[in-house]
Parts: sequence; structure tokens; C-alpha cells
Amino acid sequence: MLRIGLTGGIGSGKSTVSRLLADRGALVVDADRIARAVLEPGTPGLAAVAAEFGDGVLAADGSLDRAALAAVVFADAGARRRLDALVHPLVRQRSAELIAAAPADAVVVNDVPLLVETGQAGSYDLVLVVETDVETRVARLIERGLTEADARARIAAQATDEQRRAVADVVLDNSGTQAELAEQLDRLWTERVEPARD
Ligand code: ADP
Repeated sequence: MLRIGLTGGIGSGKSTVSRLLADRGALVVDADRIARAVLEPGTPGLAAVAAEFGDGVLAADGSLDRAALAAVVFADAGARRRLDALVHPLVRQRSAELIAAAPADAVVVNDVPLLVETGQAGSYDLVLVVETDVETRVARLIERGLTEADARARIAAQATDEQRRAVADVVLDNSGTQAELAEQLDRLWTERVEPARD
């Protein structure tokens, strides 16, 4: 099994790279998606969150009211830590289950937005960093519905390109077209992934 840690700043193209890796046969473990799945209606995770933060974080249909929960934890760093302490072990457990079920020759990609910020580079055989210049990221995030101020604030709250570069085994440049990105993925797959896996 080859473990790839994929990271990059918000709007750099991590999800796009994940898709391209999945197209080539990788098993993608998406921490954000798992974090949503462990709080679906009927899960022990959602029950624990409701017990901790009250029924005010539930919508009328019993699902998680993400905006209400976000408002609680945004205003209170202690609440944020309590939420993380509830959710992170569930995400880790679910990720471990997915990886345990993968075949021995699998290429497993973990999409970890805060890989650098949380010091996880050592957990992977190959750390892939997607890099895109800031102005292009801001433009893409605006297209995705963020305001310019929000996009810039989120970028500023994350690690810098230099910090991500320092832990990268491979840097993918996504300032160009999707076709140019796909070419880099093809090269990465034949030159780095297949030899390492085999
Ligand atoms: P991330 O997961 O790092 O936040 P995404 O993969 O979601 O980034 O990309 C951010 C936005 O930019 C998405 O709307 C995506 O479709 C678009 N995008 C990604 N790569 C390119 C590219 N090379 N050219 C144009 N748009 C792109």
C-alpha cells in the first residue's frame, strides 16, 4: 500500500487533484466528507454533538444545523475544542476502517487541508502539495461563491506556500489549465506512484 498525503491551500485544487487520482485508481479518503458522514442523522456522532451542545444545533428534521453549530463554535474556542475532541476520533476511526478494507497494493490518498498546520507530513509515504498563485485562488473561490474578503481571510489563516513546500515530496502547479494539471498527474503516476507501489 502506498499512502499519499494530499494538501494545498483553500482553492488550490485539492478536490480536483483527488478526482484525477481517483480516475487513475487511487482510493481517496476525504477527511471533510467523512467529517460530514459521521454527523449524519442517526449516527452516534450526531447524538454526542447534540448531547454536548444542546438541541439548538439540530434542525427541525433532526439533522445537524451546521450554521447553528458553526455559530456556537465560532464564538467560543473552548466549544471548538470540545467539538474537535468529539469529531476527530470518529473521523480517524472511519478513515482507518476504509484503509483497512483496501487491497494490499492500493494507492490511498488522504485529502488533508491542514496537513502542514497539524504536523502530519510524517504519516505518509509521499506528500503531494497543490500550489496555485493566490490571485488565481481568490478568483476561483469567488466563482465558488465566497466573497473576496472571505477568500483572502481564509487563505491568510492557513500555512504559506513556503511552509507547504518545505514538507512536499512533489509540488503540483495548478495555476494553468485543468489539462495541464492532468498532464502532471500522468507524469506523477508513472514516475512516482507506480514505481513506489510496485
Ligand atoms: P480545493 O479543494 O483545494 O479547495 P478545488 O479543487 O475545489 O480546490 O478547486 C477550487 C475551484 O477551482 C473549483 O471550483 C475548481 O473547479 C476550480 N479549478 C480547479 N483547478 C482549476 C484549473 N486548473 N482551472 C480552472 N479552474 C480550476
